[in-house]
Amino acid sequence: MSDTLFAKIIRREIPADIVYEDESVLAFRDIHPQAPVHVLFIPKTPVATLNDLTEADAPGIGRLVLAATHFAKAEGLAEDGYRLVINCNRDGGQTVYHLHLHLLAGRAMQWPPG
Ligand code: 5GP
Repeated sequence: MSDTLFAKIIRREIPADIVYEDESVLAFRDIHPQAPVHVLFIPKTPVATLNDLTEADAPGIGRLVLAATHFAKAEGLAEDGYRLVINCNRDGGQTVYHLHLHLLAGRAMQWPPG
């Protein structure tokens, strides 16, 4: 897949407010937050979209979700709750083609989403 701005954030070529990092996951605050807490969790090994996942990606996706849930607990967000979202392609609202998990918290979310 082609380089994206998230790959540049991983390589520290563009700045980001990084809140978590381990060997396979990087997390940073969204530049246009849609909630009081809006953090993006990305795999360091890029995958463009949900459609591109294979069996081999299953552990990595698990680590991505666990990184987000651990962050939510550590930040005191877990009891009130939060939303995890992965947008896929045009109708899903995806704009950056490096798969990422949005963690949204700090306000009551609407359902159904817009
Ligand atoms: P998508 O629409 O692809 O699901 O989410 C992409 C997200 O990346 C958007 O919420 C957008 O605000 C965020 N974003 C775009 N460019 C940047 C950037 O340069 N830095 C950060 N931290 N977030 C960005």
